[in-house]
Amino acid sequence: MAGLAIITEACIDVKDRACVDVCPVQCIYEFDPAKNLLFSEAEAGSGVTENTHAPSPDAIAVFGDSILYVNLDECTSCTACYQPDVCPVGAIYSEEHVPDGSPTSAKYNAEDQNKGHDHTFFIQLSRDVFAD
Ligand code: SF4
Ligand code: SF4
Repeated sequence: MAGLAIITEACIDVKDRACVDVCPVQCIYEFDPAKNLLFSEAEAGSGVTENTHAPSPDAIAVFGDSILYVNLDECTSCTACYQPDVCPVGAIYSEEHVPDGSPTSAKYNAEDQNKGHDHTFFIQLSRDVFAD
């Protein structure tokens, strides 16, 4: 079933931005600490900013610029970024399929190294990190 996209811990310090290039609405953001700004690009690394948001100080302090963030108000649940061949580390889940680590949990993505962990923290983080 299609759902909002949630980026989880496997993205930390990987951040290769493959998901950015497939998102049709530029709702996957990177944090620029120098400008204290979340920004998105249509093409990762192009330097052409599409959208910006202010970060929430407490939420952005958790992982800072080590991970990307999906703006859940802008995500259209198009499913493009969580197709199995996009994220090299299996970090992206559909919201309904974020594993909580319990025996009855949704399945982990095949490439996700963090099996056995509760990933649902990242659902709330995705909501909290955008201040506007
Ligand atoms: S494709 Fe995966 S690892 Fe790469 S930036 Fe997106 S979520 Fe992070
Ligand atoms: S599901 Fe679609 S709209 Fe949402 S972040 Fe992924 S690519 Fe972008």
